[in-house]
Amino acid sequence: MNLVFLGAPGSGKGTQAAKIKDRYELAHISTGDILRAEIAAGSELGQAASKIMETGALVSDEIILGMMDHRLRQDDCAKGWILDGFPRTVAQAEGLEALMAGMDSDLDLGVLIQVDAEEVVKRLSSRRTCKECGAILSPAELGEDIPEEGDCPKCEGKYFLRDDDRPETIRRRLEVFEKETAPVIGFFRNRDKLVEIDGSQAPDTVTDAIFSILRDQFGEKQTA
Ligand code: AMP
Repeated sequence: MNLVFLGAPGSGKGTQAAKIKDRYELAHISTGDILRAEIAAGSELGQAASKIMETGALVSDEIILGMMDHRLRQDDCAKGWILDGFPRTVAQAEGLEALMAGMDSDLDLGVLIQVDAEEVVKRLSSRRTCKECGAILSPAELGEDIPEEGDCPKCEGKYFLRDDDRPETIRRRLEVFEKETAPVIGFFRNRDKLVEIDGSQAPDTVTDAIFSILRDQFGEKQTA
């Protein structure tokens, strides 16, 4: 099962992908996480990406497609995957389709998680990310009035406020989403491979809605 989770930054794509992947034994691939790992490793790619990411703009299609070509060939992708944060442009969607054709595989479904802009700004500016385990932490886990940095409740690491989760950069990311990524929704719709979910509901309700759609489309699959 090869899925793409689509939605504005802060729509809950990453949170939902992390919950859905286990039942179907899928690899969860976030291009944002791969780029942040490159930055942490101090690689050449990381250094180039870091400057772009700080502004809320997109890293080039060429770099991202090269990264995904490598990632999708790894062993953990054999049973299928959930892509989170990719494709973010129509050129990336077309590149992914070509990549899939070359691997004798295909995209099965785009799951669009819809949330309005006001809610996105509220969610992103109040969330924190763990430097160590990568967990995305919300006020539900950390309480209200969260400091920019603190101790992660899930590991020994520290959480922090991502530079691109500051209000001015969030607004830029939303503009980029509307201009570059919204057309990707049409790409999936035109292929009759799009389902839409109301992402403003409670996270568990959104997860149940996605499971229900996957059951309808792909049948029951439970893992231990
Ligand atoms: P995310 O964690 O998915 O919100 O991504 C954080 C930042 O990484 C984005 O604002 C972009 O600068 C960059 N990025 C992540 N995925 C992509 C992609 N598919 N194409 C271009 N840039 C990306």
